[in-house]
Amino acid sequence: MSLIFPASLQPTLPIAGDERRFPVHRLYCVGKNYAAHAREMGADPEREAPCFFLKTPDAIVLDGRVPYPSGTSNLHYEGELVIAIGKGGSDIAPEQALEHVFGYALGLDMTRRDLQLESSRRGQPWDTGKSFEHCAPLSAVVPLKQSGHFASGSLRLWLNGELRQDADFRDLIWANHDIISALSRLYTLCPGDLIFTGTPAGVGPVVRGDRIRLVIERLGELHAEIV
Ligand code: MN
Repeated sequence: MSLIFPASLQPTLPIAGDERRFPVHRLYCVGKNYAAHAREMGADPEREAPCFFLKTPDAIVLDGRVPYPSGTSNLHYEGELVIAIGKGGSDIAPEQALEHVFGYALGLDMTRRDLQLESSRRGQPWDTGKSFEHCAPLSAVVPLKQSGHFASGSLRLWLNGELRQDADFRDLIWANHDIISALSRLYTLCPGDLIFTGTPAGVGPVVRGDRIRLVIERLGELHAEIV
């Protein structure tokens, strides 16, 4: 087969403690999965189920350098726990869902908040607010045998040294096994899928030169700089 231009390479993530890499298939994201964050976005967490959206795999940033994107004057950070799927499937029962996990990573769901809110207001899709180049800084994947699962555990995010997000996974509206099960009823999950599990309260804007530090217990740290 000859190609008229080179095919883009499938992105891969490093794996902590392993020479091999984790080839990425899809990037799924959960919205409104912490009640306090849903409220700060003007939603009612008691009445609205978390929503799913996607980013494209070429959004991945591994060197921590996030260029300020075009088309926005309100770029936000969202610190998140990311599930790395190792075994695919569909219609997965919640009780079996964690068997599909390879490991976990730290991720930032960078968001053009002005575009997201404007499309919400108009009843339009979130894509331009949520899916764009360099909108998904990620850490290495930490295999399950090192990280364990995350029924609880702390997530903290600092912006320029100031603590902005501080939550525990006990506060997730949908636990990780529920997210995997629900997604698998909408999509066929594949090895290499990543699932951003939602951000807690405390999101906010960044400008060029800002430094973000995300720390998740048992996973380590992710650093990013807006350039
Ligand atoms: Mn998010």
